Amino acid sequence: MRVSILDFNNHLKFQTIFDSFFEHNIWTDEAPDFIVDFNELIHGDRIIRLTPGRELAEIYEYLETLTPSQTEWGTLLGVRPLKLVHSLIDQGWETEAIKQHLARNILLQPQKIELLFETLKHQQAIYRSDRDKLSLFLSIPFCPSICSYCNFHTKPYQKRLARDYVTVLLQGLKQLGDHLRADERVVDVVYLGGGTPTALPPELLGELISAIDTIIPRSEVKEFTIEAGRIDTFSDRHIEILETVDRICINPQTFNERVLQGVNRAHIHQTGELIRHFEDRGVIVNSDLIAGLPGESVASFLDSLDRLIDLRPSNITVHNLSQKRGSALRDQPLSESGVRAMLRGGYQALRAAGYHPYYLYRQKNMLSHGENVGYERDTTACIYNIRMMEDAHEIISLGSNAVSKRIDKTGLRRIQSIKETTLFMVETQRWQEDLASFFQSKEAK
Ligand code: SF4
Repeated sequence: MRVSILDFNNHLKFQTIFDSFFEHNIWTDEAPDFIVDFNELIHGDRIIRLTPGRELAEIYEYLETLTPSQTEWGTLLGVRPLKLVHSLIDQGWETEAIKQHLARNILLQPQKIELLFETLKHQQAIYRSDRDKLSLFLSIPFCPSICSYCNFHTKPYQKRLARDYVTVLLQGLKQLGDHLRADERVVDVVYLGGGTPTALPPELLGELISAIDTIIPRSEVKEFTIEAGRIDTFSDRHIEILETVDRICINPQTFNERVLQGVNRAHIHQTGELIRHFEDRGVIVNSDLIAGLPGESVASFLDSLDRLIDLRPSNITVHNLSQKRGSALRDQPLSESGVRAMLRGGYQALRAAGYHPYYLYRQKNMLSHGENVGYERDTTACIYNIRMMEDAHEIISLGSNAVSKRIDKTGLRRIQSIKETTLFMVETQRWQEDLASFFQSKEAK
């Protein structure tokens, strides 16, 4: 559709609503099919007056009379849908009133309201507790190969670059230790992500973990996670190191070998064996699958999920494929057909197997406008994932392309580090300033 949007302040919101109904929209003032003015929607000779505050909902309702919506999320456009629910609870709203608001004014489908409240139930305790504690995120921007759906600033592993990068992180950790002591702050959650931390050789990974242990005593850490999504990086020594932390991620993404090769990932036959190896030793494993990979059918996705459920990792995260800007898949014509059935079927299969949703988020350009959902069994929710998504806790990050979140009187402030790894390494002063700015006087808080 050709759409002219005159309200520039809300341009993106209106675009998202039109994208929920029609593919390949063009934003133009020339010969538009629709004009969105400040208080009206014009469609041919029809003029729909818009009520202030209900513009999005009323446009949505009108478009629904023309064609079915492709999203079940109504006009809820943000990437963190639960934030709205948390904020209404904080304002004193009762559950039933929130549900009615979501249905009537935000136009959420009943199954999404159910998903939100089910997720809320399983994250509430973690969300509400330890607001004074800090989480530490360390970014390791190396991978064995670059997956075609990924747009992280990650590089294929290079020995010299990785050594130099870790040296910078060690300096950063030392300075972080000084700040923590000076501010008397406690880090109780540690997360090594990226990238793929296990792309580092075991000696470098071990060096990093020892440096973390030096500034943050394990006795204070409730949760220490390492993303180890690519088991093609594992050596025996890696496995020994991973056995010393609380949680790891092993991410098959799909058990369909042909599909996996199509997105530039190697299929590894030991996935199941390794998931059991760690779980049997008390290390919580999270495993990711992606719904909507090129060449994946509903049946093959649900077959992968069944195989994963049979392996009983404590956590399973089901992602809805997003065609991210900067990824190799960005401009490929992909089929949305079946993705919604994969997500619904996945939810039902996981609930039937005793898993519960505990965190969720959405992204731009998701096929079928769905959501990513993390499921837990036996109260094993990842604290870091909840804190990361819901923005009620502070996070201090070190490394390239990492975001710290500081909360003060004015609210949440994001401090984004330099994205490009080599530039991050030479701009030493910049990350030092970022650290200092995160820990600036408590008086300002
Ligand atoms: S392993 Fe993860 S971070 Fe690395 S390229 Fe693939 S999706 Fe991106």
